Amino acid sequence: MNDPDCIFCKIIAGEIPSSKVYEDETLFAFKDIQPVAPVHILIVPKKHIPGVNEFSPEDEPIAGKLFSAARKIAADQGVAGDGYRLVVNTGKHGRQSVDHLHLHLIGGKRLEVSLG
Ligand code: 5GP
Ligand code: ZN
Repeated sequence: MNDPDCIFCKIIAGEIPSSKVYEDETLFAFKDIQPVAPVHILIVPKKHIPGVNEFSPEDEPIAGKLFSAARKIAADQGVAGDGYRLVVNTGKHGRQSVDHLHLHLIGGKRLEVSLG
């Protein structure tokens, strides 16, 4: 357990149940509990990094693995062909609500234009 107060650390540790779709030595991915589209997956590093502002140069390999996992999961979920959106919310204005870095993979329908 990285941070005993972090909900995503508890999910990674299996202390809170989740619908897991992918796991490797670095990453864990599971279905968002409040999906905004037919496919809504959260891809998270197992290391507790609060957000992009705390992302350090030594974490750079994690960023590459996040994109590779997104590509694999999108294919597994059947959305690679039609496309999808990858989102990282950061801080108050970015409406980040869980302070454990995560990549939203959203797809399965044609998404709204607005990002703001
Ligand atoms: P954020 O707003 O920080 O970018 O995204 C956090 C996401 O985590 C939200 O989309 C929210 O629905 C999801 N979430 C929060 N708590 C849980 C949980 O306990 N289980 C799952 N599967 N998703 C969660
Ligand atoms: Zn955490």
